[in-house]
Amino acid sequence: MDCVLCHPQKENVVWKNKELRVIQVDDPLFPGYFRVIWNKHIAEMSDLTDDERQLLEKVLLTVEKVVREQMQPDKINWAQFGNMVPHLGWLPQTGAELHSLLARDACHRNHQH
Ligand SMILES: [Zn+2]
Repeated sequence: MDCVLCHPQKENVVWKNKELRVIQVDDPLFPGYFRVIWNKHIAEMSDLTDDERQLLEKVLLTVEKVVREQMQPDKINWAQFGNMVPHLGWLPQTGAELHSLLARDACHRNHQH
């Protein structure tokens, strides 16, 4: 399987260990956009062991704290996905950014029809 997350072209990795990595997404529209990517092919959180899930929660909360301290967003939003590739991934970002991301997606959809 030719998986983009197993073979990333270019990533700004801010922290990693053998289980997971935290990357800052290089998108000027969304400066507070981080992904926490589980390295193995696991699509659902309930497939993790208890220890793994605890590690993941710790990392996610640490990312959230750092983003809150450094960027002081109105709101942090998390999204869990894994639809395109079988990796767990989270996208903590600010409320305003998520709003414009959704607007951009809606716009994109409209242009296709
Ligand atoms: Zn992969």
